[in-house]
Amino acid sequence: MKKRHYLIGTAGHVDHGKTKLIRALTGIETDRLKEEQQRGISIELGFAHLALPSGRDVGIVDVPGHEKFVRQMLAGATGMDMVLLVIAADEGIMPQTREHLDILTLLGVSRGIVVINKTDLVDSDWLEFIQEEVREGLKGTVFEQAPIFPVSASNGQGISELIQGIDQIIDEVETKTTSGPVRLPVDRVFSIQGFGTVVTGTLHNGTVRLGQELAIEPEHIMAKVRSIQVHNEKVEEAEAGQRVAINLAGVNLSDIDRGAVVITPGEYPSGNILDLKIYNMKSAEKPLVQRQRVRFHIGTVEVLGRIHLLEQEEIQPGDEGYAQIILEEPVVAAAQDRFVIRFYSPAVTIAG
Ligand code: GDP
Ligand code: MG
Repeated sequence: MKKRHYLIGTAGHVDHGKTKLIRALTGIETDRLKEEQQRGISIELGFAHLALPSGRDVGIVDVPGHEKFVRQMLAGATGMDMVLLVIAADEGIMPQTREHLDILTLLGVSRGIVVINKTDLVDSDWLEFIQEEVREGLKGTVFEQAPIFPVSASNGQGISELIQGIDQIIDEVETKTTSGPVRLPVDRVFSIQGFGTVVTGTLHNGTVRLGQELAIEPEHIMAKVRSIQVHNEKVEEAEAGQRVAINLAGVNLSDIDRGAVVITPGEYPSGNILDLKIYNMKSAEKPLVQRQRVRFHIGTVEVLGRIHLLEQEEIQPGDEGYAQIILEEPVVAAAQDRFVIRFYSPAVTIAG
C-alpha cells in the first residue's frame, strides 16, 4: 500500500501552550526553529513531525495564536487534515479560541481533538468543571463531537494517551489526490546563496518531481524543479499532503510573493472575479452588505475586494447567499475552494 501523508495543525489562544505541547509530543522546539530559520539555518517554519504508534508519520504545523497572526493561521490551516485545539485548563475558552474555531469551520477543517492543557495548574474539581464548560462552549461548532484530552505539556501527563487519540482519528482521514495537477500555495519564499530561489508550502494536489516544469501564478512565470526537500531531507518527489521546500531554477526571489501558487502549467485559472457562495457567520453580528469592501483569503493569500450580492441587498448573520467578488489583484482558484472573508477594519473574521 502507498504511504499516506498527514498534516496536523494547532489552534488556540495565545499562551495556552501550543508550542510547548508540540515539544511534549515530538521533542521538537518549533519556536527555536523559527529563530534558526530567521538566521537562515533551517528551512522549516514552526514545523515538527511525529511518528505514531501505528508507524505513520505525521507533520505538525505550529500556528501562532496572537490576533495579529490570524492571517498566518489562515495560511497554515489550508491543507490540514486535523487540528489540535489547545485550551488552557486555568483559562478555558478565550476570544482567539473562538476566532480560530470560526476560521476552521469556514475552511472545512472539521476533524480535530480538543486538548485541555496545563492540567498541572488546576485541581481535579476545576478540571471537571472546565471540561464541562468547554464541551458546552463547543456546541454548535465543528468541534462539538471532538474528543477531549486533558494533558500537561509541562509534566507530560496525558501525552501518550493523546498520541493514541491522534493515531485513531488519523484513521478517518481521506488521502489527498496525489495524481492530477500540482497545486502548491506558497507560504514562504527565500533564497539560499549559491542555491537560488526556494518556495515552501503544503502540497494540496498532485506529485512534484525533480526536473518538472511548473508555473508560478498569477505572476505567470515558468520554473524548473531543481531540488525538493521534505522534513529537511532531500527527496526525488513529494506528494499531496506533504510539507515541501522546492528549489526552483529560472526564477528570481523578487518575482514571487507569498501567496503565489505553483501549479502544473495551465491547470488552474487565475482571475480577479470569483463567483462565491457566502456564509455570514452568526458571530459576525452584522449583515454583509452590497458593495462592502473586505479582505478575501484563499490559500496563502489575502487580497482586498468588493462584494456584489446577486440575489439580495444584504446577508444576515447566520445566512447564506450568492455573490461575486471583484478582487484588486488576481488569485488562483478552483471550483469548490474554501475561502475566508474578514472585515476591512478591524480585520475580524466574518464570513466564508
Ligand atoms: P502558545 O502561545 O500557545 O504557543 O504557548 P506556549 O507553548 O508558548 O506556552 C505559553 C506559556 O505557558 C509558557 O510559559 C509555557 O511554559 C507555559 N505552559 C505551556 N504548557 C504548560 C503546561 O502544561 N503547564 C504549565 N504549568 N505551563 C505550561
Ligand atoms: Mg507558540
